[in-house]
Amino acid sequence: MSELTESSAGNAEPLRPGASVKKLPGVGPAKAGLLARLEIHTVTDLLRHLPVRYEPEAAEGLIADLPADGQSVGSARGVIAASRWVGGQFGKKGRYEATLQDDSGGLLLTWFNAAYLRDRIRPGQPLRVHGKAKLFSGYPQMVNPKWELMSEDEAQEQPGKAGRLRPVYPATQGLPSSAIEKLIATAIERVTPKLEDPLPAELLAAHNMPDLATAFRQAHRPTEPEDHLAARRRLAYNELLLLQLGIAMKRAYVHQRQAAPAILVSDAVDRHIRERFAFVLTPSQDKVIQTLRDDLSQSQPMNRLVQGDVGSGKTVVALYAMLAAVAQRKQAAMMAPTELLAEQHHRSISSMLKGSSIRVRLLTAGQGASGSAARNALLEEIVSGEADIVVGTQALVTQAVRFKELAVAVVDEQHRFGVMQRARLRSAGETDEQGRLRVPHQLVMTATPIPRTLSLTIFGDLDISTITGKPPGRVPIQSRVVGPEKIDEVYAYLKARLARGEQAYVVVPVIDGPGQSEDSGAMLKNVADTATTLRQKLGPPYEVVEVHGRLPREERERVMQRFRTGQAQLLVATTVIEVGVDVPNASVMIVEHAERFGLSQLHQLRGRIGRGASTRRPLCVFIADPTTEDAEARMKAIAATSDGFKIAEQDLAIRGMGDFFGTRQSGMPPLRTAVIPDDMDLLALARQDAQAMIERDWRLSAPEHAALRKVLLQSYGESLGLIDVG
Ligand code: ADP
Ligand code: MG
Repeated sequence: MSELTESSAGNAEPLRPGASVKKLPGVGPAKAGLLARLEIHTVTDLLRHLPVRYEPEAAEGLIADLPADGQSVGSARGVIAASRWVGGQFGKKGRYEATLQDDSGGLLLTWFNAAYLRDRIRPGQPLRVHGKAKLFSGYPQMVNPKWELMSEDEAQEQPGKAGRLRPVYPATQGLPSSAIEKLIATAIERVTPKLEDPLPAELLAAHNMPDLATAFRQAHRPTEPEDHLAARRRLAYNELLLLQLGIAMKRAYVHQRQAAPAILVSDAVDRHIRERFAFVLTPSQDKVIQTLRDDLSQSQPMNRLVQGDVGSGKTVVALYAMLAAVAQRKQAAMMAPTELLAEQHHRSISSMLKGSSIRVRLLTAGQGASGSAARNALLEEIVSGEADIVVGTQALVTQAVRFKELAVAVVDEQHRFGVMQRARLRSAGETDEQGRLRVPHQLVMTATPIPRTLSLTIFGDLDISTITGKPPGRVPIQSRVVGPEKIDEVYAYLKARLARGEQAYVVVPVIDGPGQSEDSGAMLKNVADTATTLRQKLGPPYEVVEVHGRLPREERERVMQRFRTGQAQLLVATTVIEVGVDVPNASVMIVEHAERFGLSQLHQLRGRIGRGASTRRPLCVFIADPTTEDAEARMKAIAATSDGFKIAEQDLAIRGMGDFFGTRQSGMPPLRTAVIPDDMDLLALARQDAQAMIERDWRLSAPEHAALRKVLLQSYGESLGLIDVG
């Protein structure tokens, strides 16, 4: 702490806002590590770490003048004159007593069960305390007062003035609010002299907002009680404006600099495509397809997200767009998050197109080593345009893969947003006659609906369509949550269902070996042992097969084939099956250690059953032993609703935005000041301003936008792909 006081002496050099926090005095690797836990890496991050609340600082008076009525809160400071630990009967319990002394007298301080204070508050230490004093045998005493160590220098300063607001910060173990307060005070002092305000002055004037330096100062140390509100508003607006500018600039960029092949779908082609589907599309599917037809007819690239619950029938909608491209002798690609799902899509698309001349190919990492003859032949088919539809995993976006002319790219993400690829699938000729980058129309499919608030923020550069409801004839899935002690009952019930000719899944968290949970230390079930147990319990004639992520491709295909055809009745698996398994006859699922899985994941898993129109009642049993409040909440939610949209909302509420959307993986910086949905009005304002600004100057190349542009590219350049805006 003494280093900090030195730095506040003032003559230190100004700091760049983007500088690492390690440039601040007193911040070494250890403290930087603690700050990183709060996602604070740069000085700006630190300045944007705002207080959660402010506490009025009571006037520090003389100890003799402290109100000692046991009601009023008072503050005092002095030096510890004496201290002692009064141990209780069983060692740990007890109380720590210290006497605080100033010129007017002494104050007895007592903290219960705080043995650690013995090392912190020692005789000779200057200390500030805050609490309710009362007289105890005629002597003033405070029980469990708030306290703060003071440096020698501080102890020399004038006592604090009454009514000043002290910030209280979100803190972390080893880095209390008071330490953050000091770091921020130093940062403000060092940064504000050279701080450039990125927002044009006229904009600030129009919204009656303070400049950036003032906003930082007032947000952390408001002079008047309400001052931090205006400061916070400015900072939140700043953040939202940058985001909205990024989104608007991205749209303008795509519009100006990128072109996709315009695909007109004639009514004849529309008819031909529909003839390939084994069913009539639902009105909701039809509506989304109409939107896709409009999008595809433009040379402006489509950038659309189709959301719909598990089993709502998204694949066929994507397939429509792909076939529209193929009908114009162009190519289409579909990228899935797992090999299993890619294989599933490949198989179902191939079988749907059987007898046609359309060539469907599969490209995954497990599909011939790179450099192998088979792989090279495949790449050649893709670049020559011989392959019409290519289904694959992320292997599709590697350098080696070039298309002749890719017109439609579909990304099937299921509920895992972290997988979201902003990377481009490429065509061979990179640019068209007008120098625009040739890109495909892009369609992202997701089973996790995006709340409207977020569709305006982190997903603001996508257009969104929703498939509501499910294809007709679906029987709702029943869900039960039971404790692990019910396992025998559950297995017996499973056997009864299998005896009726049904098929089932059992999902466990671990592939093989003893899996030990990191947090609870409990042993987790694995695929191999669970399958062995079930083979014993079920006995002949039932066949139990196993699948997990480490199974070699041929083996996995063999196993899935046996299950699909009904030769095997029970599939024991890890969560690899959460996407990409479509076996209509499967109607029972048992998920063991369900408390280990995320809510959206459980919902997605459950979506594997009840996929066919059938009279059987699909049943999902979650075996769970929740030991945390979160896990408890998840189990309640999964049992209570089968509506994927509601599940997503709850998941978002339980996990928070960053985890939920894996925004960290997608590289979008987190919002620090703005709170969605609380700040919706500011968001609307920022959106409007950003659009107006981009309309006038889409690259923000005007001199008055220079500072803004710089900050914008720093924050969103990479995540939104704006780096080459030029
Ligand atoms: P998801 O939205 O989860 O990707 P799928 O596209 O896999 O859903 O569709 C789920 C199942 O419903 C598939 O077996 C699919 O063939 C079937 N399906 C899709 N649309 C319809 C429809 N309009 N009528 C009947 N079945 C449909
Ligand atoms: Mg799907």
